[in-house]
Amino acid sequence: QAKQEGRSTFRFFTPALRTHSSRTLRLRNDLRLALERGQLALVYQPQVRLADGKMLGVEALLRWQHPELGPISPAEFIPIAETCGLILPIGDWVLRQGLQQLQRWDAAGLGALTVAVNLSAVQFRDLRLAERIGQLLHESGLPAQRLEIELTESCAMINPQGSINTLEGLRQLQIPIAIDDFGTGYSSLSYLKRFKVGRLKIDQSFVRDLHLDPDDRAIVRAIIGLADHLGMRTVAEGVETAEQLAWLREHGCDEAQGYFFSRPLSPEAMQAWALARAPQQPAV
Ligand code: C2E
Ligand code: MG
Ligand code: MG
Ligand code: MG
Repeated sequence: QAKQEGRSTFRFFTPALRTHSSRTLRLRNDLRLALERGQLALVYQPQVRLADGKMLGVEALLRWQHPELGPISPAEFIPIAETCGLILPIGDWVLRQGLQQLQRWDAAGLGALTVAVNLSAVQFRDLRLAERIGQLLHESGLPAQRLEIELTESCAMINPQGSINTLEGLRQLQIPIAIDDFGTGYSSLSYLKRFKVGRLKIDQSFVRDLHLDPDDRAIVRAIIGLADHLGMRTVAEGVETAEQLAWLREHGCDEAQGYFFSRPLSPEAMQAWALARAPQQPAV
């Protein structure tokens, strides 16, 4: 009896079933068409400098509006895209779309914002990454400094020596780099130094309970101190309250991003937000 149950259980968890639920299979199938059918879109979240409240740029975040299943989180569909060869075309689309949006905002007089784009581990492994991004930048006519690449700390640590080489290639193109979700990815300090990135994004898990948890405060203080000593800027992710913001400003965090300022917004809503926030021109 037990043996039979054991066997049927074993049979149920065949590798194919274990790794691919029917929803995953469906999403994988539908994702192929999502790009060409215009179901993917970028939303944008402002990044604000704490010293003076100036909006410096935006992070582009990908959205998939599935015609039947509704909105699908990138946390769900990016891993799927990574396993079926779709992440490279999707990644290129995100970069091109983000840069085009920047040009439209330039024309609308928003000031020279930067756009930060998230990169998947698969894109990052691509030996032609720098070449691809360089080409997309060239097409856009925008200077490299207007783009920023976000790479998660765990991504950078999959193959640290490879990361150093790839990051060097991007640096030669003068493309700014940020380490995303910093503090969750076990990077050693010696690698962090050799990555030579411009910004560290403090993971939102440390920001969330800042006013409740002394350990989180200690960690955030340590990250800010480390960044200062290594000549990097810090960006706090997931800032939702005025208390969090005040603490971060007081402790020398350079920039912040989160619902306190704005949720990720459509291009039109982001433009309206930025124009409403821009300091009034002094009367002549
Ligand atoms: P991430 O890059 O760390 O992005 C931050 C996530 O936190 C976003 O979730 C954002 O909407 C959310 N967030 C921002 N402010 C707050 C806040 O104040 N409170 C809380 N609770 N959350 C906040 P989202 O848009 O669902 O994206 C999830 C992840 O998916 C991203 O994490 C990123 O790793 C990945 N992702 C998004 N777009 C892309 C993309 O174009 N390419 C790749 N490869 N990954 C992407
Ligand atoms: Mg990010
Ligand atoms: Mg993050
Ligand atoms: Mg600092």
